[in-house]
Amino acid sequence: MKLYNTATRQREEFIPNEPGKVSMYTCGPTVYHFAHIGNLRSYIMEDVLEKYFRYVGYDVTRVMNITDVGHLSSDADEGEDKMLKGAKRENKSVMEIAKFYTDAFFSDCAKLNIKTPDVVEPATGCIDEFIKVIEGLIEKGYAYLAGGNVYFDTSKLEKYYIFNDFKEEDLAVGVREGVEEDSNKKNKNDFVLWFTKSKFEDQALKWESPWGVGYPGWHIECSCISMKHLGDKLDIHCGGIDNAFPHHTNEIAQSEAYIGHKWCNYWFHVLHLNTNSGKMSKSTGEFLTVSLLESKGYDPMEYRFFCMQSHYRKNLVFSYENLDNAKISYNKLIARIATLKEGGEVDAEAFATLKARFTDAMDNDLNTSLAVTALYDVLKAKTNDATKLALFADFDRVLSLDLIGHASVLRSKLEEEAKKANAAPEGVSPELAAEVEALIEERKEAKKAKNYARADEIRKYLSDKGITLIDSSAGTTYKLS
Ligand code: AMP
Ligand code: ZN
Repeated sequence: MKLYNTATRQREEFIPNEPGKVSMYTCGPTVYHFAHIGNLRSYIMEDVLEKYFRYVGYDVTRVMNITDVGHLSSDADEGEDKMLKGAKRENKSVMEIAKFYTDAFFSDCAKLNIKTPDVVEPATGCIDEFIKVIEGLIEKGYAYLAGGNVYFDTSKLEKYYIFNDFKEEDLAVGVREGVEEDSNKKNKNDFVLWFTKSKFEDQALKWESPWGVGYPGWHIECSCISMKHLGDKLDIHCGGIDNAFPHHTNEIAQSEAYIGHKWCNYWFHVLHLNTNSGKMSKSTGEFLTVSLLESKGYDPMEYRFFCMQSHYRKNLVFSYENLDNAKISYNKLIARIATLKEGGEVDAEAFATLKARFTDAMDNDLNTSLAVTALYDVLKAKTNDATKLALFADFDRVLSLDLIGHASVLRSKLEEEAKKANAAPEGVSPELAAEVEALIEERKEAKKAKNYARADEIRKYLSDKGITLIDSSAGTTYKLS
């Protein structure tokens, strides 16, 4: 399986540290507000990656944090704490906000068929671990105290910029527009490990520490939570592309400085979902959430299908027009699956050939858009329905588009409608209706057998009872004469 590794800027064969096992870490949400559908694009594509690892037989342990403290408005330790901002906005406590939006996040994930990671750990539950690692970093000379805060000293590293796809000056925190430089920092990219002093003094959550009462910086939580559950060698770390710098760069800096060797082998970054006017936002323009899409009549599976149709390493533009196109394609696909008949033997050879198209696409840097094409290949294939249904169920272990479930709901709906259309006319007793149905069936068979005499006899018999048969291309119905 080949995956693009942001750290090496190459597609590489994925080889985990331990054969057959994958340790996977995902940066979780900052729970100060609902997730927007851009955030959820990242979680959908990471879910596909996890499920594909499992599909090809790896034993995966996936860990995710919940950021409920320390993430300031700018990723570079400036501005107000996002959680505090949320609490003020809604007149609630920070912990109430965290609980509410953590639940809301997992409810959105459930709607989108995103599996909950094996371990989910809120940052506020790991303060002791953060303090231990920060103490270790100070001891090893990688961190210093200044103005009451503890900073990581980036000048102590041989290489700080890992993901330097970007221009160095764009990455430098101090020169970012609207971000003032913190005069305590020795180097412009040093970052806070522990705050006791910040520009705002009303921080709601504070803990005792060797450096005074305060709270952790944002980056330390992911390093510590990952090491706590997955040890000091991580196979793969995921997040949206905005996390590459400074968040993941800082995670690598502090983790490797602490453990003294390479930490994570593969970095999987999902590119952004943007709007026509640019960056997706929770505060300006339409706040695009799963609930909003549902209120406009979209099924969350239609959004998941929209995400599957494009590669995770391409920026994706959201517009209702684009989503409508995905909606139409998804429902056409479901309608075609709904016509497939259950039962019968699976053709093992055809199954293997068509499955290979799917795995070839997925092995090629998780090419979900080609994997969607493989779904259409199944529909077009010259094989029986049982094989096709088995393939859809198989691919859906990864794509999680609820293909079989949605198709069976549609099939029941169509059957219900057909039943209603064929329901006994008013004034016909259930006994008579059953007799008529049976005779209609017998007449159909008689006609098939070219026994027209019997067919006419049935028509006459029913006509004498006041029942007129109506033949059409859709079959035979009846009415009272
Ligand atoms: P946050 O809740 O802000 O910590 O972000 C949660 C996840 O969403 C992170 O992995 C971000 O990198 C990712 N993310 C943020 N904005 C977008 C976007 N527009 N498209 C895709 N992923 C995003
Ligand atoms: Zn993180």
